[in-house]
Amino acid sequence: MDIAVVGAGIAGVLIAREVARRDPGSSVVVVERDAVATGASRRSAGLHFPRGTTRRVRRMTSYSQDYYRALRKQMPRLPIYDRDMYLVAGLESEAHLCEVHLPEAGLAAVDPLALRVAGSPVVPPAGSGVWSAAGCQYADVPALTRALARELRPDTGFLEGVRVTAVVPGTSAVTLRTGTGDTLTAGQVVLAPGPWLRDPAWHGLVEPLGARAKKIVALHIEQAPEPDAPVVVFHDEDAFLLPLPHAGHWLFSYTCREWDVDPDELRAGVLPRDLAEAREVLGRYAPELAARCVSGRVFCDAYSSTKEPQIRPLDPEGRVVFAGAANGSGYRLAPAVAAETADLLGLLGGPANGRSTL
Ligand SMILES: Cc1cc2nc3c(=O)[nH]c(=O)nc-3n(C[C@H](O)[C@H](O)[C@H](O)COP(=O)(O)OP(=O)(O)OC[C@H]3O[C@@H](n4cnc5c(N)ncnc54)[C@H](O)[C@@H]3O)c2cc1C
Repeated sequence: MDIAVVGAGIAGVLIAREVARRDPGSSVVVVERDAVATGASRRSAGLHFPRGTTRRVRRMTSYSQDYYRALRKQMPRLPIYDRDMYLVAGLESEAHLCEVHLPEAGLAAVDPLALRVAGSPVVPPAGSGVWSAAGCQYADVPALTRALARELRPDTGFLEGVRVTAVVPGTSAVTLRTGTGDTLTAGQVVLAPGPWLRDPAWHGLVEPLGARAKKIVALHIEQAPEPDAPVVVFHDEDAFLLPLPHAGHWLFSYTCREWDVDPDELRAGVLPRDLAEAREVLGRYAPELAARCVSGRVFCDAYSSTKEPQIRPLDPEGRVVFAGAANGSGYRLAPAVAAETADLLGLLGGPANGRSTL
């Protein structure tokens, strides 16, 4: 086998897709301990907005935005939905907003009443401004990941329910041992494990990266949004209110600060302190909705120390590559993560001038 990808989340599947596109003759297998899109990708809110806090993340954002747009042209039935987007922030944040948003987002200050006209329940508090930005979309990430995996099969192999138990880099190949008792040999291996950074199979290889798993909480509000209701991003709090008409409810995501969680131990669901923290933030903007936050989704994601995704070789020969730690933005940056991973694997055919080639 030429390349094995470990982990069938949105990152692993898009990496497999990029490898297959650049090198159609190669043999690629994706090894997944559970099923396609059952990790962080299953719980993702799937929001893409045209923002990046560093120059590299803005470049990755722009690339990924183009990629998803082109993908939808190729496969119009994919569950990716355009949304209008507004930002609410303190008036003093305007310079920072302009710096972190893509130029093509066309950030523009608007009358705060625009929110109500657009069908949003958000009332901006005194002293805050409202801006509009273009390029926002959200996806049903698990459905999208499964659709992309289906398209890759059977040329790309998928081993579901097969856990990788050891990764042994060698000078001419990498050996993977699996929970089924098999041994796989691949020329190169990509680890796309999402928040499973400390799996014994690769902990020693991945630990030097310094990536950490942080809990993410997104609450559900059981009220049907208008079909065209906009996304509202609360810039200063790093939170957002996302209408999910396809699911019949709203979602509110805020920044939870619980670090070094174990993805296999997050079984308690939404806790009282999660509800309290979320309601405190949402209550400033939409008190009626805040009172209705009673349930949601709780999981975690991998975060890097640099606030940028990590795509790195893990062994001296560069045969094992880590791809991930996208800091809670692993859906929206996955196409760029896949392109950078394929570059690192030495596959030609990458984006020219940073533009998506699909
Ligand atoms: C509640 C929530 C909301 C989010 N909202 C957003 C958002 O709005 N926008 C956005 O861009 N991002 C969002 N994210 C982040 C985004 O979902 C993740 O960054 C992304 O899904 C990570 O994809 P991945 O493929 O790297 O990891 P995962 O989807 O976690 O996939 C990793 C896979 O590796 C497998 N695996 C682990 N160990 C082994 C092993 N030993 N052998 C074989 N397979 C193994 C796992 O089973 C898993 O399927 C959110 C995340 C959460 C939890």
